[in-house]
Amino acid sequence: MIAWSAEQKLLEKTVSEFAKKELLPLASEIDEKETWNEAAFRKMASLGLLGITVSEEFGGIQLGALEATLVMEILGKACASTTLSYLAHTILTVNNLFLNASESQKQKYLPDLVAGTKIGAMAMTEPGAGSDALGMTTRAEKRGNKYILTGSKTYITNGAYADVLVVYARTGSGRKDISTFIVEKDFPGFKVSKKLKKMGMKGSPTAELSFDQCEVPEANLVGKENESVSHMMNNLNMERVTISGISLGIAQACLDYATQYASERTQFGTPLNQFQMIQERLAEMATQLAAGKALVYSAAQAFDRGERSMSLGAQCKLFTAKMATEAGLEAIQILGGYGYMREYPVERFMRDAKLMEIGAGTNEVMRLIIARELYK
Ligand SMILES: Cc1cc2nc3c(=O)[nH]c(=O)nc-3n(C[C@H](O)[C@H](O)[C@H](O)COP(=O)(O)OP(=O)(O)OC[C@H]3O[C@@H](n4cnc5c(N)ncnc54)[C@H](O)[C@@H]3O)c2cc1C
Repeated sequence: MIAWSAEQKLLEKTVSEFAKKELLPLASEIDEKETWNEAAFRKMASLGLLGITVSEEFGGIQLGALEATLVMEILGKACASTTLSYLAHTILTVNNLFLNASESQKQKYLPDLVAGTKIGAMAMTEPGAGSDALGMTTRAEKRGNKYILTGSKTYITNGAYADVLVVYARTGSGRKDISTFIVEKDFPGFKVSKKLKKMGMKGSPTAELSFDQCEVPEANLVGKENESVSHMMNNLNMERVTISGISLGIAQACLDYATQYASERTQFGTPLNQFQMIQERLAEMATQLAAGKALVYSAAQAFDRGERSMSLGAQCKLFTAKMATEAGLEAIQILGGYGYMREYPVERFMRDAKLMEIGAGTNEVMRLIIARELYK
């Protein structure tokens, strides 16, 4: 499907070994206990993964969207929720700062984030502004040499544990008057107001955050006032390509588990995999997965060539998110009653997959973006 280079194959091998050793054994436990695999997360730094798109100057390994997507896929196959937190850290926070922050901001924040001594999060969504992100009401007002942030953000991945947050806030009266701020967890007025309980992705902490006259030094404004919409959209585009890797990983886990199970489980004196209706399900899953991989890898390569298409990113996200949820449901069906039981991982795969149809923009919003492009 794709002619992987020797370096990419080595990356795949190294990350697969890491995922098998550090993520897979705890995936079920962190889902059950709703905790996160902090140790593995921080250990990713030793492989350079926390700065996958960042230059060596800041401790990173500066690979492209294709490699970042491949890493999401491998990690996502082992533990989707740890991978969601990884995405929020590396793509939404670290890559965002690497592309948009000033030299001094990068010097100050990136080395710790890349070394895993600090955790990152990105806060855009608000209780009243999800799909309509530009409808956000969190405001930042300049007072002396500080900005005062007031408002709240919700569903923020890593929000409860983040040391450094990239926060979007309104700085003018126009709809697009949005600016980006770097907020440290100890800034006065910042508070984690609630840790949220979820259906899936339970090993990825999600929180509601409050900014009550939160004091942010003016040096922490990223770029210029009122000019962040393009950062936000570019970052969302990169997110949608790379997050598709998590969907591919979940679907692969569903297919692998169901294929194995169907070869071991016998009914009517025959292994399940000899029944044509089971074969059909597996064949369909494999075909959808192959199509998803072809789409996502080619989109990631286009991204690395500098081609920017919001529609292509949306297509990747839409196709693979639906495919992963469907793969989860199919895997449950192939396992029958066992598929519905918590002792087996496939119901978790399905619960995790469903988030892929909501986070980073819902399926409906992806369709709006794609349709808009058709009529351009
Ligand atoms: C686990 C999790 C982690 C997340 N992590 C982050 C994070 O780290 N940072 C962050 O900023 N955000 C994060 N989000 C927020 C996520 O991006 C939003 O949930 C998402 O964009 C949808 O917004 P909403 O939940 O407010 O839904 P709404 O916008 O209220 O949508 C509700 C329904 O209406 C539909 N809808 C809305 N508008 C239209 C329309 N114009 N046409 C047709 N249908 C429409 C939607 O598709 C959806 O089905 C996370 C969410 C979750 C669940």
